Amino acid sequence: MISLKSEREIELMRHAGHINYLTHLEVAKNIKPGISTKALNDIAHKFILANDCEPSFLGFEGYPASICISVNDEVVHGIPSKRKLKEGDVVSVDIGVSYKGYHSDSANTYIVGNASKEVKDLVENTRKSLYEGLSVIADGVKISAIGKKIEDFAIKNDLGVVRELVGHGVGTSVHEDPDVPNYYTTDNTRLKAGMVIAVEPMLNLGGEDIYLEDDDWTIRTEDGLPSAHFEHTVLVTKDGYVILTGE
Ligand code: MG
Ligand code: MG
Repeated sequence: MISLKSEREIELMRHAGHINYLTHLEVAKNIKPGISTKALNDIAHKFILANDCEPSFLGFEGYPASICISVNDEVVHGIPSKRKLKEGDVVSVDIGVSYKGYHSDSANTYIVGNASKEVKDLVENTRKSLYEGLSVIADGVKISAIGKKIEDFAIKNDLGVVRELVGHGVGTSVHEDPDVPNYYTTDNTRLKAGMVIAVEPMLNLGGEDIYLEDDDWTIRTEDGLPSAHFEHTVLVTKDGYVILTGE
């Protein structure tokens, strides 16, 4: 069931989203060669609690950490560990923050230091594909229009679109209806003002195929090439959308 949010619920989600944005800034300024992904997780965990919020992912379906950090060929759901970042790594950070029971979900991908032009283009074009997808959002528009925009942009830039994982509604659960795929479907469900959704393209430098690692969480690209991930939680309005996980 797709829920429409009240003014009060939207205010709570706006606050959760703002703390999510600030948590991303805290993590981003600590991304450098030599830091472990566990240390980044702990920085985010402390910051979220210090702001009277909770990390949405900790314990969600048994997930063992506060945020997800996926490096290079890891697409999403990488579990923070003792692994240390090094020059040229592609680091996708996915953060969920809840406030008074209302969630927000947002992801950014960073490059540690320098990287090849094709890797820089992967990250920049994945970021752009998110805004391409968001650009069509308004009351009455088919949800499939978002995925069409993202998929067209990815194909134009020769990137693989991950299909097994999709965006989603957000509210009192971090994952609610509806699904928001990053590719075109024939589904006729339409957006409505008051819906809150997470749009989250995951694009690969190589092919679209992925696999689940033995830890039952980490998703990797089949061909071992890097992947990038950007995500915002947005409120659908009559004429467009408002990003809840921004400034
Ligand atoms: Mg996320
Ligand atoms: Mg999400």
